Amino acid sequence: MNKLAEPTTATSLRPKTLNAHTPDSQIRNPKPVMTVSGLFKSYHKKNLEVPVLKGVDLTIPTGDFTTIVGTSGSGKSTLLHLMGTLDAPDSGQIYYNDRRIDNLPAREKERLRNREFGMIFQFYHLLPELTTLENVLVPKMVQDGFWTYLRNKKAYKKQATDLLEMVGLGHRMRHKPSELSGGEMQRTAIARSLISDPRVLLADEPTGNLDAENGREVLDCLAALRKNENLTVIMVTHDDSLAEKSDHTIRLDNGVVA
Ligand code: ADP
Ligand code: MG
Repeated sequence: MNKLAEPTTATSLRPKTLNAHTPDSQIRNPKPVMTVSGLFKSYHKKNLEVPVLKGVDLTIPTGDFTTIVGTSGSGKSTLLHLMGTLDAPDSGQIYYNDRRIDNLPAREKERLRNREFGMIFQFYHLLPELTTLENVLVPKMVQDGFWTYLRNKKAYKKQATDLLEMVGLGHRMRHKPSELSGGEMQRTAIARSLISDPRVLLADEPTGNLDAENGREVLDCLAALRKNENLTVIMVTHDDSLAEKSDHTIRLDNGVVA
């Protein structure tokens, strides 16, 4: 059980320096789940250096829904990929729960991605031949290897079923991706990203390919996960209006946090 759910009231946990607008998360858990410090990243094209991140500093509160906004090309995907250890910065540091993660060996980064982070993208990357349920099980098939997967299959199926029900797709388990709406496909991808019970969900323009209604569905789903599952959600988007369901907005402008 969460320690802070014990009889002490939330008000008594509030540090004196925090004001009435301090988000709940800082009262519940003042430690950030992620900290980015002095992050630089350039791409190199032939002899040309393209600087993208020019000293990004930010903190992500534990258990909150944080949106990082910025115009197209401002470096949002680059930043999210670095935070998810998919790529390494040129300089600067990234901490996850006080542990530096940007310079870990490849195997350790892979472990983090498999166990601690879930990721979703603008495109859903679902396998067209598999049902919704099977798509959600794919990370387990890949991580476990054949025999371990087979041994645990029943438990995994139950877990995948629960996740699909949680994202409102209990009635679509046997459908193939081609039989789903865009919003349903993205919610399948969300369920898949949660199969290893991550603590942080990194979402790169998750509504970028959806109409307004489907986009709202996906945002509601992310907001519910943050609320009900105690998941930290970090979403990047070029669309300012999408930030309204989140607890905080961070603006990336010209390679730094504005
Ligand atoms: P955003 O997600 O905010 O649209 P990105 O992080 O994708 O921005 O890209 C930031 C800039 O870096 C863009 O100008 C883009 O063209 C450039 N860029 C991204 N990835 C690469 C790459 N692999 N090689 C060279 N340039 C890249
Ligand atoms: Mg992008």
